[in-house]
Amino acid sequence: MTVIGQPYEVGPIRPPSEAGSLLVRATRNCPWNKCEFCPTYKGTRFERRPIEEILKDIDEAAEFHGDIYRTAFIQDANSLVMKTGDLVRVLSRLKEKFPSVQRVTSYARARTVARKSVAELRELHEAGLSRLHIGLESGYDPLLEYMKKGVTSDLVVSGGEKVVDSGISLSFYVVLGLGGRLRLEGEETWRNHALETARVLNEVNPHYIRVRTLTIRQGMPLQEKLENGEFEESSDAEKVREERQLIEELEVTSYFASDHSTNVLMDVRGQLPEDKASMLSVMDQYLALSEDEQVNFRLGTLFRYFGYEPNYGSFRDFLVPARKEAVAAVIEDLEEEQPGRSRQLVAELNRMLV
Ligand code: SF4
Repeated sequence: MTVIGQPYEVGPIRPPSEAGSLLVRATRNCPWNKCEFCPTYKGTRFERRPIEEILKDIDEAAEFHGDIYRTAFIQDANSLVMKTGDLVRVLSRLKEKFPSVQRVTSYARARTVARKSVAELRELHEAGLSRLHIGLESGYDPLLEYMKKGVTSDLVVSGGEKVVDSGISLSFYVVLGLGGRLRLEGEETWRNHALETARVLNEVNPHYIRVRTLTIRQGMPLQEKLENGEFEESSDAEKVREERQLIEELEVTSYFASDHSTNVLMDVRGQLPEDKASMLSVMDQYLALSEDEQVNFRLGTLFRYFGYEPNYGSFRDFLVPARKEAVAAVIEDLEEEQPGRSRQLVAELNRMLV
């Protein structure tokens, strides 16, 4: 929650699951900032904030809000780049000024985490750090290299295992459709992306697996590759096929979360392995749809996101004939206006998602 007039600094983003958290900006921007698919900090420079300034922000936040928060998120892209002792001071001050905060989380890069010892991570955990959100993106090394992620799957496994060993809860982020229709090493990338990502997840067994779907927007270096034809995005059905392959391979006890509007099927979520069969079943039902029905479903879910009627809040809504017909009527009008307009609108709305 960002409040107008608040007397302390906040950064630009936080995970969807931290929408109600107190935001504490410990560093500014991203120290890596090279990933092809990430526009968030492009054109900015990474900065460490002086520790006294961060502590003062916490004091002022406490005075401004009072002890109203239950959760806090430490910004920006990689707070673990701070010296462990400094981060411990931030966490301790948070605990002192916001005694009701039960959960403190942060983003971190796998490379940075892998450089910390388990003892250091434990120290952070004891000081109050409850969860780390780490962008795995893919476990397929050629794709990580293509996207300039700056890590290898081995490094991600090593960093991830340390986090789990330290007692900190681990959230790994995966980008569906990241390989588009690329062929790396002479093979279809989507399949290797799914298989290798599942391999890494199986090795680490993080507490949470969170998926987002690649949506190319201005500000991403990948946009240029899309425009010059080097990169081609996969279709919704191809993305779901990839997600299906990934989930089928998983042998974890993680919670699988699909809490991002870019995802085709946000209903595909649940506790693994218990909910695996029902998750696969939703994807199978979607993959059995005709192409026109898939467009109908996507348009209806995008309408929901942008507040238009009629819309779908879930795949179950789409299975209600009256709701499907209402969206079909909108599509008919669009197509009458201009053939191909409904697919075009899906692409336009997709690019507006954040
Ligand atoms: S994805 Fe993460 S590490 Fe990569 S540039 Fe964006 S913020 Fe930095």
